Amino acid sequence: MKFSFVTLFPDLVSGYFNDSILSRAIEKGLLEIDYVNPRDKSQDKWKKVDDTAVGGGAGMVMTPQPLFDTLSLLQERDVHIIFATPVGKPFNQNDAKRLAKKTHIAFVSGRYEGIDERVIEMFADEVFSIGDYILTGGELPSLVMADAISRNVEGVLGNQGSLDEESFEGFLLEAPAFSKPPDYENRVAPSEYLKGNRAKISALKILLSECKTKYFRPDQLKKYQRRKKYEK
Ligand code: SAH
Repeated sequence: MKFSFVTLFPDLVSGYFNDSILSRAIEKGLLEIDYVNPRDKSQDKWKKVDDTAVGGGAGMVMTPQPLFDTLSLLQERDVHIIFATPVGKPFNQNDAKRLAKKTHIAFVSGRYEGIDERVIEMFADEVFSIGDYILTGGELPSLVMADAISRNVEGVLGNQGSLDEESFEGFLLEAPAFSKPPDYENRVAPSEYLKGNRAKISALKILLSECKTKYFRPDQLKKYQRRKKYEK
């Protein structure tokens, strides 16, 4: 899997790949990262990449030309182009799993008041939001998506089995996890977990997952219940 980050600030992104699971994935050749800075393509003599908005309004908008020239090259190479924008579809785990099957994805980060809409129309294969709040730029959303996608690329996680039990698999949030030691500061992990009966532990985990989901994500619980009813 190759990720290209289209950003005015590559340094904001690159540090994330210097350590831990994703840096190992790069070493193993499972992931490849590169950066493309639209400022390098700017035909303005001051290398400007933003301008005031047509029709007025506060703040600056990223101009089409530098992004047009940058993204044309990626589009010619059949790269899957994703824009980070608060007005996109909410990114979720199914998207992460689906996109893990692509070979090359480019993430386009906006800055200032965002990106000229014509660029989005011309080049976006998909547009995603990572939540209902406004960030200063698309670098964090791009990293969030790249991280979530990477861990679904085969071989990236040491223990591939951990993917099956995770939150949002089948709509439920994951049951609480406890590391060893079982007793810490007089707080003891659930006794059923300690007895080692696999079937009973699984049943308890499902119950705890349902409780957590009901409390934190009633929207997901409804989907889970609907699916359970359908399966009967
Ligand atoms: N004026 C815009 C916000 C611009 S924020 C609006 O009101 O919709 C600047 C850039 O940050 C955006 O172009 C986008 O790339 C990124 N961004 C900010 N919040 C985001 C979010 N929740 N999800 C995805 N990208 C976001």
